[in-house]
Order: sequence, then C-alpha cells, then structure tokens
Amino acid sequence: MRFQLLPSTFDENGRASVRQHLACFVVDDLIAFDAGSLAFSTTAEQKKQIRDVVISHAHLDHIAGLPLYIDDLFATIKRPIQVHATKEVIGILERDIFNWSVYPRFSELRNDYGVVMEYRPFEIEKEFAVKHLKIKAIPVNHKVPSVGFIVSDGRSTFALTNDTAEIDRFWDVVNGEKHLSAILIECAFPDELGSLACSSHHLTPKVLQTELAKLKQHCPIYVVNIKPMYVDQVSRQIIELNIENLALLKVGKIYEF
Ligand SMILES: [Zn+2]
Repeated sequence: MRFQLLPSTFDENGRASVRQHLACFVVDDLIAFDAGSLAFSTTAEQKKQIRDVVISHAHLDHIAGLPLYIDDLFATIKRPIQVHATKEVIGILERDIFNWSVYPRFSELRNDYGVVMEYRPFEIEKEFAVKHLKIKAIPVNHKVPSVGFIVSDGRSTFALTNDTAEIDRFWDVVNGEKHLSAILIECAFPDELGSLACSSHHLTPKVLQTELAKLKQHCPIYVVNIKPMYVDQVSRQIIELNIENLALLKVGKIYEF
C-alpha cells in the first residue's frame, strides 16, 4: 500500500516545508485520512480519484481542506464525496462548518449527477471497509472526540494515532495485531512545552518514549503532526531518544508499506 503525507505549507522558495500546518494522509492515491490539505496539495490524479475521506477528529488542521475540496469538485463530480467519521464528529462538522454560515451544507446539495457529499458514520472498534481497505477506529486521548486507525489492505497493515496524549487501549489493539508494517504517531510539542502538551492533550518526545515502551510490535515508527513552530526542537529531541526504528515522516514522500 502506498502512503503519503501531503504537503500543506511552503517555504520562501515555494517548496514544501517540513513545517506542516495541516494533516492529510493519502493511501494509494484513493483514500484520504484527514483532510487538512486535501484541497491544496492533491495532484490532478488524486483529485480525480479521491472520493473517500476518513476523519479522525474535527480540529481545523485536520479538516480545513474538506469544504474547499468539495467546492472545487462541486459541478463535475459524478460520485459523492463520502465522509467517514464517528457520529460525534459528523455532528460537529454539520453544526460548525457546513452550517451555511461558515460554508454551504453540501450534504443537502446536488449537482447535475446527484448528491455531492454523504456521511458514512463508523463505530468505534468495529471494522469497516473503505474501497479495498479494512479500517478499525480506536478512541485516543485528545481534547475533543478523536480516533486513531488500524488500516489494512489484506497484505499490509499500519496504525495511525492522530492527535493524542497518553493512550492504553490503542496500544492493546495494536499489540493484538499479527504484524504491522508501520506505526505513525504524533509528537506535537518539544519537552520544554510539556505543560502545554499536557493541557492540549498532545505528546512530547519524553512522553512519546514512555508510550513506545507499551508497544510490543517491531516495525518502523514515524512521527507526524509536529506543531510547525517546533519542528527543529522536536526533531532534535526525537534523535536524542536514540530509538533505532523511530524517524520523522517525510513530507510528500511516498512510502510503500
Ligand atoms: Zn487535534
């Protein structure tokens, strides 16, 4: 399976920056996990193919590109965008984003081919299918209702925590998997901002280290969702942890799991 973190933010030369503001992971150019930069960084091919968007939680950096993506495709799409999320997250999107004030309620609108957006609620810890993927959502420990995912295409499986502080149930489920090809875990703040990380329910490198001690799988582990202002500090502290299979996920790079 091919996995890519889409660029969201650009340096002064217009190149993708490691300082990412938004989160959007694309699998096989077909399915998006979170939609932070979905409208901004997808290729023409990805725009043609991505009709399924799986949302972890409704924080802006994870959904910012969703209304604009649907807007871009509004007149031309022949299959509706399927938004997969928990009922709680769908409620937040409808109340706070697609509410006619911030943006149109696309779930009530049609183009010449039919409806343009549909919600597909999923349940916690109950496997569901999106295209060729089997996905399980596990609650994580964030400031708002949020889930991590275990994702399999039948041949390989990866785990993605999304935004979270310390977790136990997620690791229990991960440890119960036969074999994982990769784990993606957040680490938003550097150790110096431990109290901010704690109050906003995020991880620091030090806490990440104690989290990884709960892990019984051995596979590459990639750090994601670092706050853009602290990339240098967090990267340095991650290296200092000296964990051989731990690295930062590279922006835009296509990983094969
Ligand atoms: Zn968040």
